[in-house]
Amino acid sequence: MNRGNLIFEGDLELIRDMVIAVIGYGNQGRAQANVLRDNGMNVVIGNIRDYAWERAEREGFEVYEIDKACSKADMALLLVPDEVAPKVYADYIAPVVKSKKHFILDFASGYNIFYGFIRPLSNMDVIMVAPRMIGEGILNMHRSGRGYPVLIGVEQDISGKAWDYATSLAAGIGALNRPGGVGVRSSFREETLIDLMTEHTWMPLLTTSFLIYYNIMVNEYGVSPESVLLELYVSGELAETAREMAELGLFEQFKLHSRTSQYGQMTRIKRFLKIESLWKAFRREAEEIKDGTFAKEWMLEQRTGNPVFNRLMEEYKRSDFAKSEDLLLKALGRR
Ligand code: NDP
Repeated sequence: MNRGNLIFEGDLELIRDMVIAVIGYGNQGRAQANVLRDNGMNVVIGNIRDYAWERAEREGFEVYEIDKACSKADMALLLVPDEVAPKVYADYIAPVVKSKKHFILDFASGYNIFYGFIRPLSNMDVIMVAPRMIGEGILNMHRSGRGYPVLIGVEQDISGKAWDYATSLAAGIGALNRPGGVGVRSSFREETLIDLMTEHTWMPLLTTSFLIYYNIMVNEYGVSPESVLLELYVSGELAETAREMAELGLFEQFKLHSRTSQYGQMTRIKRFLKIESLWKAFRREAEEIKDGTFAKEWMLEQRTGNPVFNRLMEEYKRSDFAKSEDLLLKALGRR
């Protein structure tokens, strides 16, 4: 049964006789490969010769060099980091699958197709099954018999069955056909926009607000760093609230807080929403994602040896905030 843009079921039989090559046995690859195998699918792993290769072998998979795995397969799940995928595709996948009559190439993110870093061959169905879940979460859901959300997209449909293959794969990796499981009919473009928009707006804004809050409370109001950090997220209350947002709804979960808290939140949301520069900043990020400015910036950063990435990582790690957090987490026995 499917409703509007929501898809709840996929036909597992459609891909049961295929050889499925999972390329990259990392966060997503390991989780998806294991769930596919548990669902009776014929899975081989393609990986570079490293600890992930050994782990896949230890966990009972046939492991091959990436090109060999693809040559054996009818479908490949390209589950290597987005920044290395174009080279893996060009060097090891395209050359061996170009002579096949039909091949299915699956992505877990829209990035490389949307920005044109990977240009698929004309013999391929190009599909996307992008979990809204980390690899460990996929395995946990699978163990407890529950599904999880995925965005589903089709970029190239030469067989006329690409959507069916995509929903079948979504069921194979445990997202559909189970309580809590849902696929959203989406696209490579949409997935890229919302994924990067999360990473460029509310996530850094959340961290920014922690940093500003910490600075003002500790340096200007003399509050202890421990109190501030526990208040912000170390207590785990934030994680509980986020869970209730998903279960009850963003505004319904207000009821779990005191009326003083509810009043404070509702009135201050109105204040923040009136800050024009905040809207402007969000729109600027959306524009830079859509027009490829960020993708170019990130590509250049990697080509020059990640100087900004490394400098900022060091700067944050050396900050007073990080030092206070380190002391607190050690005292709590978490480090
Ligand atoms: P990982 O960082 O876990 O890496 C996956 C695998 O790729 C690892 O086995 C890794 O080896 C291997 N690898 C790294 N570099 C190379 C290379 N140069 N050539 C060949 N293989 C290489 O990736 P993720 O699982 O995090 O991401 C895979 C895809 O899933 C991406 O498209 C990502 O956007 C998407 N995704 C990820 C989510 C997540 O939770 N992480 C959530 C949803 C989607 P090694 O371990 O040796 O580095």
